[in-house]
Amino acid sequence: MARIGLVAHDEKKNELVGWAAANRDKLGGHELWGTGTTGGRIAASTGLAVSLLKSGPLGGDAQLGAMIAEGRLDALIFFIDPLAAQPHDVDIKALIRLATLYNTLFAVNHATANAVLAAI
Ligand code: PGA
Repeated sequence: MARIGLVAHDEKKNELVGWAAANRDKLGGHELWGTGTTGGRIAASTGLAVSLLKSGPLGGDAQLGAMIAEGRLDALIFFIDPLAAQPHDVDIKALIRLATLYNTLFAVNHATANAVLAAI
């Protein structure tokens, strides 16, 4: 069982919810963590159990970064919006930095999310 973080920026939330629904059975075998809004939407749409962190702009990305630093997260699925500035850009950069530093499985879009899920 892998511990997976799930995050999507607002314009990407529908895509991540759809991806989670399409992969519901496989995701159900893992421990899921999500930023507040993303995780809540995935749980409501799929019935999957998702442990909810704070909303991203309120510290949820920072919490995921801390989990990575503490060895408590195995993979991160983070659907980033490449077309919109985010108020919590520094937190996002820190999360990406920590995922890179700790060699965490890390998907930023649909194609790589499929590859990550196939690998765990
Ligand atoms: P949210 O946070 O799921 O609470 O919207 C995601 C984000 O980092 O923007």
